[in-house]
Amino acid sequence: MHENLFVLQDVEYSYSKGGFHLQKINCKIQMREFITIIGPNGSGKSTLLKLLAGALKADSGKILLKDNEIQNYSKKDLAKIISIVTQFNTVIFPINVYEFVALGRSPHLNYFGYESKKDVEIIMESISKVELTSKINSPITQISGGEFQRALIARALAQEPEIILLDEATAHLDIKHQIEIFKLLKKLNDEEKLTIVFVSHNLNLADFFSNRFLLMANGKIIKDGIKEETFTSENLQKVFDAEFLIANQGGYSGVLIKK
Ligand code: ADP
Ligand code: MG
Repeated sequence: MHENLFVLQDVEYSYSKGGFHLQKINCKIQMREFITIIGPNGSGKSTLLKLLAGALKADSGKILLKDNEIQNYSKKDLAKIISIVTQFNTVIFPINVYEFVALGRSPHLNYFGYESKKDVEIIMESISKVELTSKINSPITQISGGEFQRALIARALAQEPEIILLDEATAHLDIKHQIEIFKLLKKLNDEEKLTIVFVSHNLNLADFFSNRFLLMANGKIIKDGIKEETFTSENLQKVFDAEFLIANQGGYSGVLIKK
């Protein structure tokens, strides 16, 4: 029996009156799920992730995190449970990769802010998991976009959260590293009980790794369920207003684009 990590009840959110409106979101996220959120640009995917991360406050409705309303958690306590990786981070301070990933430990550090031996181990391990050990002393401002995204993921892992929210967080990675990151997340999901919710436009990777999908359009969740019921050619064509086919053949599966 899985435990609920999140329960969303009639959650609504608008940035301004008359503008985009996230409408009546009802869903549950159970521990150890691996969920993909898909939908066209502007459908509200990032807004939903920000609400889950506690970065935005719902206008109405309830967001329960482990049975408590999310606004009752301190920032530090939220950071011990949730980490969010986005693609729009910029860093201007020329700290090195180690120091950058170490920032992920801050919610766990003692009153004086010292890193214990265990903290150092977790930081090194997180860097190694994303294959950045060779860049450990490089200034974060002087690594490639893909390496920076891996550093962001390492920082999220160093946080040792129970859930990672990824917002197009592998979009700038080459295909090998995209697959590596997803394999790593899947392994953490299988072996370390990490819950994963990610937004991705890479339907092939989503198809391969995810077993539950939320399909969003116009500020609403229009489908929510197991892969077999949601990740269908028909549903995706409707949501994206484009013609393609999800194919499954001889151990391969993926999206075929109509000629
Ligand atoms: P998605 O991630 O699915 O592309 P978003 O959740 O980022 O969509 O955005 C949903 C809508 O809200 C878009 O129309 C976007 O322009 C608008 N929006 C996003 N962020 C803001 C903001 N900070 N202020 C005003 N409008 C915003
Ligand atoms: Mg977005």
